[in-house]
Amino acid sequence: MVIGKPLLTAEEIQAKVKELARQISNDYEGRELLVVGLLKGAFMFLSDLARHIQVPLTIDFIIASSYAKTDTTGEVKIHCDMREEIEDRDILVVEDIVDTGITLNYLRERFLARLPRSLKICALLDKIDRRIVDVPIDYKGFEIPNEYVVGYGLDYDNKYRNLPYIAIFKRSD
Ligand code: 5GP
Repeated sequence: MVIGKPLLTAEEIQAKVKELARQISNDYEGRELLVVGLLKGAFMFLSDLARHIQVPLTIDFIIASSYAKTDTTGEVKIHCDMREEIEDRDILVVEDIVDTGITLNYLRERFLARLPRSLKICALLDKIDRRIVDVPIDYKGFEIPNEYVVGYGLDYDNKYRNLPYIAIFKRSD
């Protein structure tokens, strides 16, 4: 297993996180946010982002995973649901990476059914070439090529999440 040199350095990531937090703080000025992180991948991004957001916020998490079955269908399983109420609140969903879009699209519909005041999505990485389901990303960090990446919360076999940078992961075999 080989980890290549950083695709995104820690410095590039931190600069982008601050920029996204500035936009979010401006857009939600005078309001209060419910920030929902998708675990496990978004834990590091969310904790950095939340540190720089300047409006009052509550944090909750949801653990979900998707299993793409065919090119057009996928099944999403919720392993651990959030505890905060969604109705009539301003929700910001924070995701590490959008790939096919199946997970986020499923969760978005689920959130919307609970009648939030508003719902926006913030994703650090967008693998746009892989998209199967169109899902709106309101705050986007970086568009990346169709490669498997690890680091900054993203794993391979639950490892490498602690790297402060993001790198392309290749198996040596
Ligand atoms: P989607 O439903 O958009 O296909 O799946 C998104 C999820 O797939 C992400 O939250 C992440 O867990 C996983 N994923 C997609 N691409 C990558 C990748 O390049 N690296 C890692 N570590 N996980 C990925």
